Amino acid sequence: MQEHLTNEQLTEYLTDPLASGGDATIREHLAACAACRNEAGRLHSLLALYGEVTRAAGARPQAFWQWQRTTILTGLESRPVPRRLVWAAGLAMAALAATLLMETPPPAVPPAAADPDHALLVDVERSVRRQVPRALEPAALLTAELSEAADTTIKNQQTGKGERR
Ligand SMILES: [Zn+2]
Repeated sequence: MQEHLTNEQLTEYLTDPLASGGDATIREHLAACAACRNEAGRLHSLLALYGEVTRAAGARPQAFWQWQRTTILTGLESRPVPRRLVWAAGLAMAALAATLLMETPPPAVPPAAADPDHALLVDVERSVRRQVPRALEPAALLTAELSEAADTTIKNQQTGKGERR
């Protein structure tokens, strides 16, 4: 009996079908194994969701991207990131964008809304961790780190406003 497909194989199959299209092993296994077909479907929806979030995030104002860019670069510079994780960072960015899209209050809302934001952030982090397959765990971890960084940034900004030197 053949072993099930790994998350890595499924992810590659779904994200880069041309590269793995010639891999008959994966296609044949998927055709024969309902469990792996289910897992592939689950992964597919997840990846589609990230795609939607990314497209929605495209509507963000320039200042948002500038802020996020700074946050991410700061996070990435602090430690070496394997090349493999670069695409995962993209997903993490999308996840973070989703978080911010859902939780960033309109400009008129005062900074006091930061605490409910944090609670939501934690919720999203939890659900992201629960849903991601093993192959995407680096993205979830990165998302958690970025969320923390964002949190710190927001707190620092608030502190900065309070006592400007
Ligand atoms: Zn299988």
